Amino acid sequence: MDLLEQIRAVVGDTGLITGEDVGKRPADWLGSTSCAAKAVVRPRSTEELSEVMKLCHAARQPVVPAGGLTGLVHGGVATGDELQISFERMRAIEEIDPIGKTATVQAGVPLQAVHEAVTEHGLIYGVDLGARGSCTIGGNISTNAGGNTVIRYGMTRENILGLEAVLADGTIVSSMNTLLKNNAAYDLKQLFIGSEGTLGLVTRAVLRLQPAPISDATAILAIDSFDKLKQIFSMTSSRLGSLVRSFEVMWSDYYNMIGVESGRHQPPLAAGHAYYVIVEIAGIDPERDTALFTEVLSEALEQEVAADAVIATSKAQRDAIWAIREDIEGQIKAMMPGIAFDVSLPIVRMDDYINDVKANLTETCGEESIMAVFGHIGDSNLHLLVAPRPWSGEAKHRAEEIVYRPLTKLNGSVSAEHGIGLDKREWLPLSRTPEELALMRQLKSALDPYDLLNPGRVLEEV
Ligand SMILES: Cc1cc2nc3c(=O)[nH]c(=O)nc-3n(C[C@H](O)[C@H](O)[C@H](O)COP(=O)(O)OP(=O)(O)OC[C@H]3O[C@@H](n4cnc5c(N)ncnc54)[C@H](O)[C@@H]3O)c2cc1C
Repeated sequence: MDLLEQIRAVVGDTGLITGEDVGKRPADWLGSTSCAAKAVVRPRSTEELSEVMKLCHAARQPVVPAGGLTGLVHGGVATGDELQISFERMRAIEEIDPIGKTATVQAGVPLQAVHEAVTEHGLIYGVDLGARGSCTIGGNISTNAGGNTVIRYGMTRENILGLEAVLADGTIVSSMNTLLKNNAAYDLKQLFIGSEGTLGLVTRAVLRLQPAPISDATAILAIDSFDKLKQIFSMTSSRLGSLVRSFEVMWSDYYNMIGVESGRHQPPLAAGHAYYVIVEIAGIDPERDTALFTEVLSEALEQEVAADAVIATSKAQRDAIWAIREDIEGQIKAMMPGIAFDVSLPIVRMDDYINDVKANLTETCGEESIMAVFGHIGDSNLHLLVAPRPWSGEAKHRAEEIVYRPLTKLNGSVSAEHGIGLDKREWLPLSRTPEELALMRQLKSALDPYDLLNPGRVLEEV
């Protein structure tokens, strides 16, 4: 029996997609390209996946795990001889423990489904991002996803207590810890968090939950200089402390392009300021929290740290503010063809870095080149949308040089939250030492000696 027929015997007819049907499936969340895998395998359980991997291991068959396909570095796109392992039939929320504040879920469950399920118990899961409707917990774990609330709850890594994974040879490693404290030797789950499916296939996880806030408030502020931006960041963190859930900044080029000129939004503040900051708090004392928030923002206005501010008075107004920040369709329309960068660097160095990148871009790639910047500043994370004009493969590479090269000296990173995948592999040595890279290769060959899991993603093929 050939390999696909052996796999069919494990997962059943509906668990295996072959031939023309493969190309009818999307290769990315937008559906702009078709799946080009050799076949798609859809296991229903960890045990089924383990059997599939035993067969793949024996046949030296490479596989590429896929969650919601919202990853932005082409890590989960299977091509040629690769099998796609889809988690779309592993979407169960197995248990929610309101006292221990944990949720036990399968890897294919969408992030938004987790949010909705835990809300009923007066709890929240602290990871949230724009792709919430499509991205899966397995994908979030594998990319160590960040998002809009990292400043308060941390990245995915800080919100995972335990997980289960299938190794390249089919071994099931069940490390489903539910305890906040567990120092019994190596914390093996960390191997699979952020390693982009190159060390194991995540099948289940125990998520750490938090009490749901009962108050929240959102404001957008106009700021006229980078010094004042730093001041407002310090002021909100010291006065509002752990109430701050988001501190997001849009540079004027981004705010003007998406919020004002696109005609897609009702701009809450006029154009003409250097920065626009979204500050959001969440707490458990509605009266006190809102009063403190208003007091701090009023002081910022009185002391002329902020030039203007709007506090959202309804959910619709809050959503309208966030819609500018999360308007991916608007970004694509305004900037494509272009590159969406995701870098991190110390906050105090950001202003000089952005000014240098902008100057270099127009000098090297042409006066018509466009750049727009926004980011999770509180997490040292910037997203740069860069469109060299005229566009070409060579211009793209030049723009990557301009954005990535300075980061080494600045102690920054070529990937703050999206990972390395295929797109950033060439640039990884700018952010990791030769010794770190050598240890990563050692780990990879210890866990996956035949390079079957996501070959060529993150590290060069062995
Ligand atoms: C609109 C939009 C907004 C976004 N905002 C953010 C943001 O704020 N912060 C952020 O960090 N990211 C963001 N992203 C990127 C993306 O959503 C995240 O990387 C997400 O975690 C990917 O989840 P997924 O299920 O779609 O994974 P996929 O795209 O399917 O896969 C991502 C990687 O994980 C691997 N993988 C998937 N499932 C598994 C599994 N079960 N086991 C092992 N490996 C697996 C894949 O092979 C691939 O390498 C955004 C993307 C979009 C489209």
